Amino acid sequence: MAENVIILGTGCAGLTAAIYAARANLSPLIIEGGQPGGQLTTTSEVENFPGFAHGVDGNELIGNMRAQAERFGARFEYDLIASVDLSGPVKRLVGAEKTYEAKAVILATGASPRLLGIPGEQKYYGGNGVTTCATCDGAFYRGQEVVVVGGGDSACEEALFLTRFATKVTLVHRRDSFRASDIMVRRVKEHPQIVLALNCTPLEVIGGADGKVNALRVSEQGKGERLIPTKCVFVAIGHVPNTKPFAAQLKIDANGYFVARENTVSTDLPGVFVAGDCADHVYRQAITAAGMGCRAAIEAERWLAGH
Ligand code: NAP
Repeated sequence: MAENVIILGTGCAGLTAAIYAARANLSPLIIEGGQPGGQLTTTSEVENFPGFAHGVDGNELIGNMRAQAERFGARFEYDLIASVDLSGPVKRLVGAEKTYEAKAVILATGASPRLLGIPGEQKYYGGNGVTTCATCDGAFYRGQEVVVVGGGDSACEEALFLTRFATKVTLVHRRDSFRASDIMVRRVKEHPQIVLALNCTPLEVIGGADGKVNALRVSEQGKGERLIPTKCVFVAIGHVPNTKPFAAQLKIDANGYFVARENTVSTDLPGVFVAGDCADHVYRQAITAAGMGCRAAIEAERWLAGH
C-alpha cells in the first residue's frame, strides 16, 4: 500500500516536515540519504537557532528533532533514492534497497557546500578552522584574521558579514575578475577591513600544534607561493543542491535548485513539495529550512485531505 507521505531528507527541513506530518496522523516515512541529519551535523555549536539562549550543539538539535518526530509516529529508513516517477497519483521512488510508493512526497534533500578539495581542508573542517558558513561560525573569530575563498556573491557576502567580527578579512579569489554582482564587488573593494588576494589559487590549509588552522598556502599567478595567516578559512565557492535524481521531472533553476510555485512550497507536480536548502539559495539557514519543512507538511496534509 502506498504511504501517505514520504519525506526525503533528515536535515532541519525534512525533520520539521516529519514532526508536522506525524502530528497530523499521517504516519510519514522519512528516508535518510547520504548525510543523515544534514549540514547541521557538521556544525559544533548553533548559536542562532531561536530558543537556545546559550546555543546548541548541531547534532543535539537534529537528534532532538528526530526524537520529536518519532514520538508522534514518524518512521525512518536509510536508503539512497536513485530515480523517481512523481507524475501520477501514486509516486514511485526507486532506492538502492527497495522501491517506495506514496501519495505525497516532500523533497528536503538539502544542498552540499562545494569544497576546495585541497590538503588540510577535511582535517580542520567543522570547528577547527575550516567552515562553509560565516553566519554560523563568524562570531567564533572575533578579533582575529580570517580568509574567505571565492569570487561570487556568496564569498562577497560572507566577507562583508565577517568584518563584524574579524579584524581583517582576506578575500582569496583564483581570478582577477569577480563572478559576483558589481554592487557586492564595490562594497568589498571599499571596505577598509577587507584585503583582496586575487589570482590566488588555494593549495593547502595549514594548522599549528594546537590542532587549529593558522594559514592558507596559495599560489599567486606570476609571483609564486605564499602563506596567508588566518585563524579560519571560510570556503564560499558555491553550493551543490541535491536535486539530480529529480531534475528531469521538476522545475530546476540555472543553479540546480528546485523552483516552487510562487509563494508556496508546492511544485508543478500535484502532491510534490520542496523544502529547505534544495529549494532555497537565498537564506540557507536552519531556521528558514525548518519553516519551509513546516509549510511543506501543512500543504501536503491539505492536499491529501482534498484528494
Ligand atoms: P558562484 O556564483 O557559482 O561563485 C562561486 C565562486 O567560487 C566563483 O567565483 C568561482 O570562481 C569560485 N570557485 C568555484 N570553485 C572553485 C575552486 N575549486 N577553487 C577556487 N574557487 C572556486 O556561487 P555563489 O557565490 O554561491 O552564488 C550562487 C548563486 O547565488 C549566484 O547566482 C549568486 O548570485 C546567488 N547569490 C546571491 C546573493 C545575493 O544576491 N545577496 C548572495 C549569495 C548568492 P570563478 O569565478 O573563477 O569560476
